[in-house]
Amino acid sequence: MTSTKLNAFCSRGSTNAQTLILPVFTNKKGKITLGERAKDFDTKYDGLIAHSVAALPAFDAQAGQATVLAAPKGSRHQNIMLLGFGQADKLDKATSEKIGQTLFTSLKSQKLDNGLLLADDHKKFKSDGSTIYAQIANAAYEASYAFDKYKSAPTDNYKFLNVSYEDVHSLKAEFDNIMAISKGRVWARDLGNEPPNVLYPETYANQIQEKLGPLGVKTRVISYEEMQKLGMGAALAVGGSATHKPCMVVMEYDGTNNELAAPVGLVGKGVTYDTGGYSLKSGAGQIGMKFDMCGSAAVVGTMQALAEKKAAVKVAAIVGLVENRIAPDAYLVDDVITSMAGKTIEIKNTDAEGRLVLADALTYLQRNHRPHSIVDVATLTGAVVAALGHNRAGLFSESQTLRENFTQAAQHSGEAIELMPLDDEHRRAMIGKVADLSNSANTPRMGASTAAGFLSYFIEGDTQWAHLDIAGTAIPPNGVATGYGVKLLSEWVERNYADKTTPQQTPAPKQ
Ligand SMILES: [Zn+2]
Repeated sequence: MTSTKLNAFCSRGSTNAQTLILPVFTNKKGKITLGERAKDFDTKYDGLIAHSVAALPAFDAQAGQATVLAAPKGSRHQNIMLLGFGQADKLDKATSEKIGQTLFTSLKSQKLDNGLLLADDHKKFKSDGSTIYAQIANAAYEASYAFDKYKSAPTDNYKFLNVSYEDVHSLKAEFDNIMAISKGRVWARDLGNEPPNVLYPETYANQIQEKLGPLGVKTRVISYEEMQKLGMGAALAVGGSATHKPCMVVMEYDGTNNELAAPVGLVGKGVTYDTGGYSLKSGAGQIGMKFDMCGSAAVVGTMQALAEKKAAVKVAAIVGLVENRIAPDAYLVDDVITSMAGKTIEIKNTDAEGRLVLADALTYLQRNHRPHSIVDVATLTGAVVAALGHNRAGLFSESQTLRENFTQAAQHSGEAIELMPLDDEHRRAMIGKVADLSNSANTPRMGASTAAGFLSYFIEGDTQWAHLDIAGTAIPPNGVATGYGVKLLSEWVERNYADKTTPQQTPAPKQ
């Protein structure tokens, strides 16, 4: 992918960049104005900017406009880009993102692979100038995402975008914070886009260990054999017969140094491929089923982001990694299986497999790590896509606190949610005829809520719990993973649980 090539962002000593990017503003009357450093540059080079602007009537420095000029003789740079910012006191997050995208597309269209954005006049902005510059640089970085590793001849040679910060000390810290989230998001996107013959439970677990270990996240793989010993009959029914054996990965990050505190819990569905099993999906229905692990990708990406930021939070997470394949001894419709929690489940649809994996993952995390609050994240139902489309995820919770906290986190992170119903009606729909539960509702419709109803049976004690169905948001119609969830989950965890030192439940016994 391209974005890893952008890692020289923000490095010092970047003054030899090929393209110097100068912010250009407008005043209230729409007249073009320059920042202090751009003015110095203009004076030094005999009014180059002023003359150029006068000769370019189409360029009026609105946010999202850019134009590239040849650099004057004597300059260290080959080109000068005038990047429109509009009115400095109107710059906000949405505008910064627009400017960042323009920055990227302009450099790319001119095949310029090394730019230096001058953080000019940041103190004159209404909102924090270092945040605005960090957001612009970050948006350019995110716009550069491409998953081209399997193309034998990638066409994109975009390389570096540097941000000058020599005289803006706060910019680097702000930028690093925003970039930590982006890195987690980019990893989640990469994981989602990997094909199922490359990313399956074992390779996925290896990658999680390799990536998170060096960041100080404790990781532990629960092997297929250990899953059997633990009695994870629900997850094993789905993946036990597959060519690539299932496993789970437990991750612990503690930025609080408070050993006694209970962690926040994250649980992710990682079905690395979903054929539907014997309740086989149609040919068209199988396209994109490599994305059925995007819930787990959101969880591991969030762990990366929080660890990279050194966030003062304590998190315990688990992802259940399985393939749902047809195999000689794959599970059958009408089978009755027993989950780790001891609940019996009759199978009415082998394509309703995600909830089975989540059930055992939820049980394991609660019994071994005692989180005070848990969110599980999954591409769980087509019903949520029918209800909400691709721009909003469905959030199901009977905890008023979690409903409010997620609503706030969604607003601040920009990853939208919709509060969805979950009550006894949905729980009743999941009661089995011959077993405790059925994995498919005995009522028509309400599929997203009844799936949440099923999961609610696996929440123990007074654990606060929310379920996030990202089937629509993680998998957009264009078929490129979005990394949805990393921003939302990081925001939710940091906003509500940073520096929380009071343990709300007895800590789990040492393993
Ligand atoms: Zn399925």
